[in-house]
Amino acid sequence: MPARWYTQPLSRRVGAWIGLPPAAFRECVMSRINRRQFVQTGAAVAVAAAAPKSVFGQAPTVMTPKSVKPLVVASANGNRFKNGGTQTAVEKAFAMITSGADVLDAVIAGVNIVELDPLDTSVGFGGLPNADGVVQLDSCCMHGPKKRAGGVAEIEGVKTPSLVGKAVADLTDHHLIVGQGAQEFARNLGFEVVPDLNTDTSRKAWLEWKRRTDPLHYLTPADRALEVKKISLAVMREFGFDPAHYYGTINCDGLSPKGEICGVTTTSGLAWKIPGRTGDSPILGAGLYLDNEVGAAGSTGRGEANLYNLCSYLIVENMRRGMHPKDAGLDALKRIQSNTIEKRLLNDRGLPNFSINFYILNAKGEHAGVGMYAATYAVCTENGAQTLPVEPLLQGRADQ
Ligand code: ASP
Repeated sequence: MPARWYTQPLSRRVGAWIGLPPAAFRECVMSRINRRQFVQTGAAVAVAAAAPKSVFGQAPTVMTPKSVKPLVVASANGNRFKNGGTQTAVEKAFAMITSGADVLDAVIAGVNIVELDPLDTSVGFGGLPNADGVVQLDSCCMHGPKKRAGGVAEIEGVKTPSLVGKAVADLTDHHLIVGQGAQEFARNLGFEVVPDLNTDTSRKAWLEWKRRTDPLHYLTPADRALEVKKISLAVMREFGFDPAHYYGTINCDGLSPKGEICGVTTTSGLAWKIPGRTGDSPILGAGLYLDNEVGAAGSTGRGEANLYNLCSYLIVENMRRGMHPKDAGLDALKRIQSNTIEKRLLNDRGLPNFSINFYILNAKGEHAGVGMYAATYAVCTENGAQTLPVEPLLQGRADQ
């Protein structure tokens, strides 16, 4: 290929490759048309047969006909925020699933409500920024029947990173695109890129956090490090933010009547993190994992604890061995507890001083929310949306 080829926008390059003009290609992406429909669409049909396997993926999995009650599970914010509309994330996802929409499109449409709602300070637009005041977002998604996945990390300026993660799954041979590359990928596909995802409130809170953690106030970096978490939690309280949003994320997983399982996780990550810090949310096996024949698990809470133990993967493998979602999740929490030995991560009872939760469903339609400490999670079934208590591993509360 001539070097010049690489300087073309992605939509032009991929569009030309498969025989579609850039505008038509972007249209396909933005209308969230799925890969199979895309291949069946007009001009693409002719080139699909000859296209490399990596472009169009494998043949659709043949589904064993089964019937199961549809279900959506999510973190608690999935049954709280409506962004001025009438439905929460789990309600939206459930309504779309039961109307026959693709399950991944449904759960992503659900979390888009929370990503776009400035009132949730842990996700998308209005998410708390990094230590430099820049909102950096992480997301990943998995499609059970298609066995495809995609994610983005530390993307700036795009309000719905979940849709960019889906484009990574649908349109590339990759699973994760990060930073500036992720933003350029989104821009080339026609996503709006805005200069700043802060709200007035998130910016004011960051300025206050910055003032109180200014290194000039501390004799040594160690003295400062000791204070940062306390200051962060104090600023969260004073600005009326949910302390659960120091960490904070939305995970949403759905099961269709045909037994199709898909999931998505999206977050602004740890409040006032070191720029570039990436947690568990965009990492397959950590922030989200699923297997269409087994079930799905996703997480919110201290991402480092999850990354060290890859708990969503562990939970799905536990279910594969026959465990109920609740037992599979509690087992993963025990793993986290036993691997948490550093004093700075333990409270005065010697227990983990952080919160972490998992939202779990299996292919039979059973579900559970589990947490290191008491918390809640969201469920939507034919009986409507509910916020239920998680099964806690430990009594009491985390420091946050
Ligand atoms: N798990 C996310 C992270 O560590 C944050 C959260 O869910 O609270 O980035």
